[in-house]
Amino acid sequence: MVIEKIVLEQIMNMKKYIFIIIAILPILLNGQDSIENKNYIPRQYKIRSFMDTSNVVFQDIYNLWQNYQAERNLNFQKKEKTDFSKYWHKDELEKYGDNCDLYSIYAFNYYTYQNKELFIGINKRNDTLYELQSVYYMDYDGFDLTSIITVPVIKIADNEYRLYNKFSLNRNALKTYKKDFITYFFPENYNLDKDAINETIKKVKEIYQDLGINKIKPITYYIDFYLTDIVNRLGLQVYLEDFVDIEGHNKNGKTIIFPRLLIYTSDGEKNVHEFLHILLDDLRDEDDTYTNFLDEGFCSFFGDHQGSPYKENIKMLKEFLNDNNQIDLSVDLTNAYKIDGKFYSVIDKEENIQRSWMVDREKSINYSYILAAVIYDIAFRNGGYDKVKQIALDKRPNDKIYDIIKDHLSIERKDVNSFIRNFINSNY
Ligand SMILES: [Zn+2]
Repeated sequence: MVIEKIVLEQIMNMKKYIFIIIAILPILLNGQDSIENKNYIPRQYKIRSFMDTSNVVFQDIYNLWQNYQAERNLNFQKKEKTDFSKYWHKDELEKYGDNCDLYSIYAFNYYTYQNKELFIGINKRNDTLYELQSVYYMDYDGFDLTSIITVPVIKIADNEYRLYNKFSLNRNALKTYKKDFITYFFPENYNLDKDAINETIKKVKEIYQDLGINKIKPITYYIDFYLTDIVNRLGLQVYLEDFVDIEGHNKNGKTIIFPRLLIYTSDGEKNVHEFLHILLDDLRDEDDTYTNFLDEGFCSFFGDHQGSPYKENIKMLKEFLNDNNQIDLSVDLTNAYKIDGKFYSVIDKEENIQRSWMVDREKSINYSYILAAVIYDIAFRNGGYDKVKQIALDKRPNDKIYDIIKDHLSIERKDVNSFIRNFINSNY
């Protein structure tokens, strides 16, 4: 899943929320969305009751925060870029560019109309540092909390403030380990697996070389124990995805392509997958960042998925497809819907059914990712790295995946289901 150059790895249901937009005038403090646009859906936000909102510093920071979110909400709908320099501190822009809002990695789209905001408040930490806190929720199946975030705000001049990442403040407390092209950040009490790192670096270098890149530009890798530890350090108080499955460890990774920052839960040292998202970007034109779902296949075929190699995942996919004969891969390669443990392909008349990736949390596998990996498996057998590159460099978006398959692998859409099933059953 790729959003604004951030790649998310999650064993999760990407619910396609159907939003019922109710036009309610939000209760505001000088906070009317200042940007006028007739077709745009405004955010709904309000401030906690009994707050003293008369303080000038409070108003300055609150307005900065609400103007920032209003502009991003508008740009989100217009699919336009935001000028972050009006809102974010220059340190953060230097480090992370257009991905400077690290909150949006885990508090996904918090600033859009899809999330309602209850503003909690602002507190002074020292002469130049303040912190604001806010909570977000969705109206879906009733009241759904999505995130609570705490954002540092730096005073840069009289009446002038800029937003800052909590992670940038917390990063100093982390230990650092530099090896070859990677700098790792990890907590003091985390036992970094240096042997696994050496192994990973070797594998990543080999794949880079196989694809014709000899020098790898520096990459930063932040590893922490659990998802909750990661998001806490990034300034989120809760992360619901960490509490879906009672049975233990939710492996989770992210790639933020522009700052070349990888994030992973414990054992991330063994992970090659995230590096390959960076490789794909390195392979593509410098000023042209594009991604599609097949990238997950590239990274899962040449790298790994949820800590397991392709040769293990493909066996699980084989079993899954043979157990779910009703899935028609010529209808959809990436999504299906689930009823009583069985997956079904979505046909037009059922478009209102919630589609999601084909995942099995218990077995820790996203079958959709491995299906995309099969495409690269077929490509590699057909024409080696040249064929692989052709597909990787095809800029067409997700809704053109079948065209990409047809043009590079000569498989018609109607034949994709039988082709993939036969390929897997005869090779694995
Ligand atoms: Zn990925």
